Formats: sequence, C-alpha cells, structure tokens
Amino acid sequence: MTPLAEIIAQRIRATGPITLADYMELCLLHPRYGYYATRDPFGQAGDFTTAPEISQIFGELCGLALAQTWMDQGRPAPFTLAEPGPGRGTLMADMLRAMRAVPGMFKAADVTLIEASPHLRGVQSENLGDVRHLDGIEELPDKPLFMMANEFFDALPVRQFQRVEEGWAERVVGLDKDGLRMGLAPPVDLPRAGRIGDIVEDCSAAVAIIEAIAGRIAARGGAAIIVDYGGWNGYGDTFQALRAHAPEDPLAHPGEADLTAHVDFAPLAAAAIRAGAEVSRPLHQGDWLLSLGAEARARRLADAGDAGAMDALRRLTRPDEMGHLFKAMAIWPKGALPVPGFDALRHHADDA
Ligand code: SAH
Repeated sequence: MTPLAEIIAQRIRATGPITLADYMELCLLHPRYGYYATRDPFGQAGDFTTAPEISQIFGELCGLALAQTWMDQGRPAPFTLAEPGPGRGTLMADMLRAMRAVPGMFKAADVTLIEASPHLRGVQSENLGDVRHLDGIEELPDKPLFMMANEFFDALPVRQFQRVEEGWAERVVGLDKDGLRMGLAPPVDLPRAGRIGDIVEDCSAAVAIIEAIAGRIAARGGAAIIVDYGGWNGYGDTFQALRAHAPEDPLAHPGEADLTAHVDFAPLAAAAIRAGAEVSRPLHQGDWLLSLGAEARARRLADAGDAGAMDALRRLTRPDEMGHLFKAMAIWPKGALPVPGFDALRHHADDA
C-alpha cells in the first residue's frame, strides 16, 4: 500500500466510503502525498506529455490567438493574462514570447497562474520569473481576463453515477480485505435518462469555474481558450489512471498515478451561455491549429534547424494522434469578434 492508500483507508474506516471526486482530489492534491503536490510528471521521464511540451508551436499559436482578440477588443490595459494548471510553465512562456511581437501587449499583461501544487509553483516561478500565483479562479482581479487552459479541466474531480433498477447509484471508493475497492452507494433520483448499467459523470467543479470565467469575460471583456481531451455530451466511464505512460487501475497506486476524466464540453458551453458570454462549439485541436497556420510555423522552425518540428506538427494535428481526441473551445463577450479560428455555437445550434 502507498502511504496515501493507508490514509484513505483510515478515512473510509472512520466515516465510510468516499466519492470518486473526493478520491481523485486526495490522490492529486493531498499536500504531502498527492500526485501533483510531490512531482513534475511531464515529459519522457514522467507519466505523460502535453501539447506545449511537444512543441513551441502550440503555445505560440494560442498566444497569437489571444493577442489578436486583445487587439480586436481595443487593447485593454492593464489586463489579467491567466492560466489555470500551468504545469511547468512552458505554455505561458511560449505565449508570452509570441505576445512580445504585439506592441504594448506584454507590458499590459498581469501574468497570473492558478496552481494548487506548491512543487509546480516553484517550477513555474523558475521558468517564468516574477509571476503571481492564486489558489482559485474566484481570486482573479476584476479586470479584463484573457485565459488559456490546457489539460487543466481533465484533472478536476468527477463524480460517477450508475443506473440501477431504483435510480442512480453513486460509484464510491470503499474497502474490502484486499484494500481499496469500487462500490455503489444507495440509489438516488437524478433527472437523467439511462438504461440499467449506464454510467454518467458529473464535474460540477468545471462547470463552476467556467461560469466564473465566462461571467468575468462577459462583464469586463477578454477571452478564454480551453483545450482538453473529451467530447460533447460525454457518456460512460472515462475515469483513468496513467503511470509511466501506461494505463493502470485508478485504485492501484493512489498518489503515484495521474488520475483524469474526459472533459464533457456540453455542460461547459451551457455554463458559459448562462453566464452571458458567447461560446464556440469544440473544434478538433488539429483543425484549429492548422487553421491558425501551424504548418507554416512548423516549416519555418524546421528550416531554422528544429529537427523535430514536422514530427511535432504531426503529433499535435493528426486525427490518429492528438488531433481529434483533443478539442479546443473558446469563450468571448457577446458582440465582440470571435477568437481566431472559432465561431459562435449558436450559429451551429442544430449540428453541435
Ligand atoms: N497545462 C500544463 C499542465 C497540465 S497538468 C500542460 O499543458 O503541460 C494539470 C495541471 O493542473 C498541473 O499543473 C496541476 O498541478 C494543476 N492542477 C490540478 N488540479 C488543480 C486545481 N484544482 N487547482 C489548480 N491547479 C490544479
């Protein structure tokens, strides 16, 4: 048993089985033994590789898309340039480098990182210099907000419910003689259709964050781009553990594996609309990057001696690599120009 498994077992013995969301949060963010609290999980030597760690193309294009939107909205200054879950800080560094080409933008940006892991906060400060760290979205200052999030929402805790005869039973983590074990709580009524055995997921943390961000953007201006793996009206069990680039049982090594769930963009888009902002439908990451000129940028880098640039482009954009699994969605104020590459969901209400 890992030390964290022992802590979780004690808690279950004391107060009963815990929700998947509580399990996920303990595993990822426990101050002493949590996955993110204790390590830098990115890259070849780590557990997974993210788009900004594959190539600078990703962060540069995200930065230029936000820069164009900043100019379209009349260059508000000062503004908050925020990133939740910045990992090593690579994406922010690439965005800032691209934004330096836009007169006045870099100086007007208050770089603000929302990061729960003390360890990763240190790595980010090392790579980015003087940045402000916040604990949560609700602490963002009341200013125009330009935000980029990559692989942040998949780390937020989800609850799962399974359809049984009498209603929906929450999937919970309990104990048996061999250790942690998945079980079902007594059924409750949920306003959802489903057949016996169906599993649905609920990420209320993500919905609350989108509502707050979209409300700020609607009121003060700005934009947000959200990139993550997932779909639209997601369905089924997508809770997964990754350790050393291989999937494993999420209960096997609490605190030592990355735990995620696919992002369901449909409730997030609905939350943005409720908050009074405009939102796009999710695009394939590959299509979005290519529409912004990813291929031309990769060729430039290759010509300048970046031997991996064309290979990185393929990994980021091809449908059988990250191109289709990952989606990009944007939020901007009603009446403003869309973020480059996106158009408003309401124009696609029938086919989204
Ligand atoms: N965006 C980065 C890293 C993605 S990993 C990249 O693309 O490489 C997820 C990041 O979110 C990590 O930095 C992790 O510590 C952070 N994180 C996870 N849950 C969080 C929470 N509830 N609040 C703030 N940060 C969180």
